[in-house]
Amino acid sequence: MQKGKELYAGKAKSVYLTDNPDELILLFRNDTSAFDGEKIDQLDRKGMVNNRFNAFIMEKLEAAGIQTHHKQILSDQESLVKNLDMLPIECVVRNISAGSICKRLGVEEGMDLNPSTFEFFLKNDELHDPMINDYHIQSFGWATQAEVEAMKKLTFEVNDVLKALFKGIGLLLVDYKLEFGRYKGELVLGDEFTPDGCRLWDAETRMKMDKDRFRQGLGGVVEAYEEVAHRLGVPGI
Ligand code: ADP
Ligand code: UDP
Repeated sequence: MQKGKELYAGKAKSVYLTDNPDELILLFRNDTSAFDGEKIDQLDRKGMVNNRFNAFIMEKLEAAGIQTHHKQILSDQESLVKNLDMLPIECVVRNISAGSICKRLGVEEGMDLNPSTFEFFLKNDELHDPMINDYHIQSFGWATQAEVEAMKKLTFEVNDVLKALFKGIGLLLVDYKLEFGRYKGELVLGDEFTPDGCRLWDAETRMKMDKDRFRQGLGGVVEAYEEVAHRLGVPGI
């Protein structure tokens, strides 16, 4: 397998073509950003930690019967993935209130949400990823009704698997964002699952172990990701 030209450089990952049109290489960089790219920094080891963390989680999801784009780790910071036709949509499940929902709805951080709640956002940095609903997705042709239903179902299935996984290592899965894409007629989980795109709190102390450490200038960002990886038993970290 040959690494080809760079297809796209996002805020934290770069995507490369390969000699197989069905496969891409994802490079997890050390770059980190928040507030739509307003706050940026480089964090040593973050690319390697996130690459290995993501592979571990994607393999757990595959084992639970959820189709993901992940194929294999290629190097410290690179993984081989299926080439998906990504939908421009972010799917968020929240088990506990935090982040944008607190500002938007004027609710306190830390409320248990029963049932867990679901939100769609349009992936568009210029518009600051506005919240959208099922009708917007269909009216503007961003996905079909069947895909909308599949995204919700799969995102909640991921919640069942990962809430239990993190509970087992003393962490609360507060919320997370997933992205899906089309692959040979099926909807497949793409992008990443790492502490960059979820909130994880220590169940005892409620200490933040995710990207909020960067957003809020708390320090110890990669150290917190590594602590979670160690508790999970992610190999190579
Ligand atoms: P952003 O684009 O939000 O700045 P990243 O820096 O993480 O985010 O860039 C990674 C890009 O790669 C995202 O646009 C994401 O949708 C895309 N992507 C992730 N997985 C795949 C895949 N399997 N196939 C095609 N594109 C993907
Ligand atoms: N999230 C993400 N990328 C985005 C927006 C959100 O990974 O572009 C994740 C974020 O890390 C959190 C969840 O989705 O785990 C919900 O984010 P929220 O809407 O609260 O936005 P935030 O205030 O974190 O920007």
